[in-house]
Amino acid sequence: MLQRTSESHTDDTPPQTDVIVRFENVSKTYDQDKIIISGLTLDIERGEFLTLLGPSGSGKSTSLMMLAGFEAPSAGRIYLNGRPIENLPAHKRNIGMVFQNYALFPHMTVAENLAYPLRVRRLAKGIITQRVNRALDMVQMRDFAERKPALLSGGQQQRVALARAIVFQPELILMDEPLGALDKRLREDLQLEIKHLHQELGVTVVYVTHDQSEALTMSDRIAIFNGGRIEQLDKPGALYDAPQTRFVAGFIGDNNAIEGEVVAIRDGLATLVIDHGISILARATNGLSKGQRAIISIRPEKISLRAAGTSSAAQLTASIRDRIYLGDHFQFYAQTDTGTRLLIKQLNVAEGLGLNPGDRCELAWAAEDCIAFRA
Ligand code: ADP
Ligand code: MG
Repeated sequence: MLQRTSESHTDDTPPQTDVIVRFENVSKTYDQDKIIISGLTLDIERGEFLTLLGPSGSGKSTSLMMLAGFEAPSAGRIYLNGRPIENLPAHKRNIGMVFQNYALFPHMTVAENLAYPLRVRRLAKGIITQRVNRALDMVQMRDFAERKPALLSGGQQQRVALARAIVFQPELILMDEPLGALDKRLREDLQLEIKHLHQELGVTVVYVTHDQSEALTMSDRIAIFNGGRIEQLDKPGALYDAPQTRFVAGFIGDNNAIEGEVVAIRDGLATLVIDHGISILARATNGLSKGQRAIISIRPEKISLRAAGTSSAAQLTASIRDRIYLGDHFQFYAQTDTGTRLLIKQLNVAEGLGLNPGDRCELAWAAEDCIAFRA
């Protein structure tokens, strides 16, 4: 199913990736005034699970609707399998879709709901039954085939919606916050089920969510949306460990920010001076230069916390303000002597180091765990 072009490739050029969807400089405005999407360029690889992640209103659904064919780009082009699709109506794009509000036909049984897209495609009755049963098996809903949707729970309805999206064997499935209406436990179960389904079917999935842990759980790659633009497109680990912008650093995971001024940059490492003349080393991101104000970003679990006077590598001294016990780990809020409030996470292995609110402490970290962005 996954056809790669690598056999024909003999020299040192990298193997071509197989692109199923291409957004080329796509812009969208609904009213000719406010630009919702601007210059969106994005290649989606065949077989991948790609998530569009960003705050509410950042243009994720609009992008998905343009791919589905329910909205038209105001400028630019979208290609499906190498062909521009602006003249292809939604129902001819052969794309499976799942939305937050299950959108099942209420007057049809579960089985009839699934048979519908196959009847529209004029498949033989025997084949329809076979495919409906197989799809229901994949989402563990075979026992509910004869029920009407109203008699199913939210999670069950969403399983049926999933089955209906895969039953006609589309090569591309779009999902827009499909788990948004479900409670946390069920959402986490279904995240894994959808991920397994993706692996089993080898289908390409474009998934929209505003929930970063959902995106990290499910995705091969994540496109971080902000104000109608992609800030960064990367694998989950790269977004967390090497964010390219301050927005990405703040949106994925918890993060501390310390402000300073760049006094030197060498070999990708910036030296920054913060209050009290303290210098800090950090990885420099693109566009950072000497003399600029910058934000130093460091993850809470990368800070090592010690009682005062016990650390040989202390970078900052601070006072503990709050200590929060969360079972598997402790969260400390420390106020540094330079006036910055920092969040620190420590695994629950040393009983919170015996540190309590009011205690003096020392903070240390490795330079490679700090990233400096333009302020
Ligand atoms: P997201 O899915 O990331 O929350 P949307 O794509 O739904 O973002 O919306 C992006 C922006 O476009 C928002 O400001 C929203 O109000 C606006 N918008 C969305 N749909 C329409 C529409 N049909 N008409 C006018 N404005 C719209
Ligand atoms: Mg949306």
